[in-house]
Amino acid sequence: MSSLPLIAGNQTLLSDLQQMRKGNHLPHALLLHGETGCGKKTIAKWFAMLALCEHPDHAPCGECRACKLIAEDAHPDVLTAEHSGKRMGYLIETVREIRAEASVVPVEGANRVFLFTDADGMSIQAQNALLKSVEEPPPHAIFVFTTETVGALLPTLLSRMTTKAVFPVTRGECVSALLQKGYAEQDVQLAVSRFDGNIGKCIAYLSDEDLRLAADTAAKLSQALANRNEYELLRLLTAAAGDKDRLKKTLLLLDTQLRDAAVLSLDGDFDRLGCDRSTAQALSEDMTPRRAMQLHACITETLADLEGNVGAVLAVTSLCTALASR
Ligand SMILES: [Zn+2]
Repeated sequence: MSSLPLIAGNQTLLSDLQQMRKGNHLPHALLLHGETGCGKKTIAKWFAMLALCEHPDHAPCGECRACKLIAEDAHPDVLTAEHSGKRMGYLIETVREIRAEASVVPVEGANRVFLFTDADGMSIQAQNALLKSVEEPPPHAIFVFTTETVGALLPTLLSRMTTKAVFPVTRGECVSALLQKGYAEQDVQLAVSRFDGNIGKCIAYLSDEDLRLAADTAAKLSQALANRNEYELLRLLTAAAGDKDRLKKTLLLLDTQLRDAAVLSLDGDFDRLGCDRSTAQALSEDMTPRRAMQLHACITETLADLEGNVGAVLAVTSLCTALASR
């Protein structure tokens, strides 16, 4: 059985990298950037297979020993830097260890791959500590970073890297990938209606009950807002106030939906929506940039209140008043 990870879309990116391997000029430092959930870590793993696969002409083959070991996270030449701290950064010690490892010759193949996933929280100090290794890497060392935005890394570090964007896929690609993973058709359709072509978020929705409830409530809140139904807004928010953590997730998702509706109001072809199209359409008809800013500010303020000592019911009551007023 092939051990290749399932990757939807992004075919140009994959074939570009495959061409590099065939031509024997893989980058020594690669940055994969794109929104959370769009598959950067999966592609990073695929890239490690590409670099270490025993069959350069059709790498990654998914069948050789190297590919299989990487699939099982057991390849001695693929090292993932461990996160630490609240911001999911990296300790200077961790960076130093990786630097030391980078000078060690590969155990099995021709390369050693070092992964820094979700590197958005990487401190300037840690990035500087890594600069020299990325600037003048040992011939066998390959560094792979994943971030949400390119700007998360220092220009000095970026200038030494090949940067590649990872995109969310189309709804159709997302549906077929999720079906291949064995999820039920009905659930898949619901997940895609919430998170479009963001496979990671769809999987989280399908496997995390809490996120599912939050996303469903957020979609209903958008609907109530579109219908200007203040009573329904208050009912939904009060019910959600019972679980503070879930309430926060709900409000963050609502914020995204309102932002998407604001974009839709400016660009009628925009199709990345967190709620169903008719709701987004109704919301967007009512949306001006000014109103979008106001709504965003209300939600941000409520989230800050929830972080502080304000009771959840009180916080949602004033949010409801703010959302309903215009
Ligand atoms: Zn292989």
